[in-house]
Amino acid sequence: MQQSGRAKGIRRFVAGWGKTVLGRLVFGLGLGRRLLASRAVIVAFHRVQGQGPNDAMTMPTAQFREWCRFFQKHFRVVPLEGIVGKLERGEAFAGELAITFDDGYLDFQTEAVPVLASLGLPATVFAVSDYVGTDIRPWWDTAKAYPFMDWTQLGAVAAQGFAVGSHGKSHAAMDELTPAAALEELVVSKAVLEAGLGRPVVWYAYPYGHPEKMPEAARESVRQAGYRACLGYGGLIGPQASPFHLDRICVNDWFSTPSQFGGYLVVLYLRHLLGRIRE
Ligand SMILES: [Zn+2]
Repeated sequence: MQQSGRAKGIRRFVAGWGKTVLGRLVFGLGLGRRLLASRAVIVAFHRVQGQGPNDAMTMPTAQFREWCRFFQKHFRVVPLEGIVGKLERGEAFAGELAITFDDGYLDFQTEAVPVLASLGLPATVFAVSDYVGTDIRPWWDTAKAYPFMDWTQLGAVAAQGFAVGSHGKSHAAMDELTPAAALEELVVSKAVLEAGLGRPVVWYAYPYGHPEKMPEAARESVRQAGYRACLGYGGLIGPQASPFHLDRICVNDWFSTPSQFGGYLVVLYLRHLLGRIRE
């Protein structure tokens, strides 16, 4: 049966409200960190703009600060190294969360970095090497153009201690490329970013993020190209996760509050536990 848009809207509201209550309860009691201690979380943002809008790609700066405070209060906010390094060494997690940004928009430097720096939080920005220092307007920026960082700006955030990773050469969908073209996206973007920044680039987040957009063979190419990790979208990161299948949770207007996000994490964790009991 087809659900009407209104029914869907009501369902989403109730589900969101339920997660908000759950998140407030669990995180309000300080239990979130303990409950999720064996898992790591990587969050993905795109843009932070002073007054908004608040949509799938963009978050107002004041709201971003609220989210960062929530992360700081309830997690150990670490650079990606703090999660990937533990997986590589087989060490247990202790409530780690890493903050990442995709696409390399200029507002990472002008809006997000001042908030992150003021709170002492690390983050990684994934840049598209063809976009750096250009006025390219990608197909998804329909309403207006948002500029990308140039080499000076990207170099400045790297010098401030923020990690720069690759988000591909041209933001091409990896599942639509030949294996040779996919490898080129990986190798060329890494080489161009490393030459432009004078620093090693070891993190890779594939464009569009959904697992079906990243063929298994291309993940192997990520390893061959010399990266230490491959990031897409998904849920919580378990202790046995492969660094080449790293899940991230997109933070956008889908979550109305950090508490709702907290409740969502609890639901993901409980679902995983239930799945294991059923097995
Ligand atoms: Zn992207």
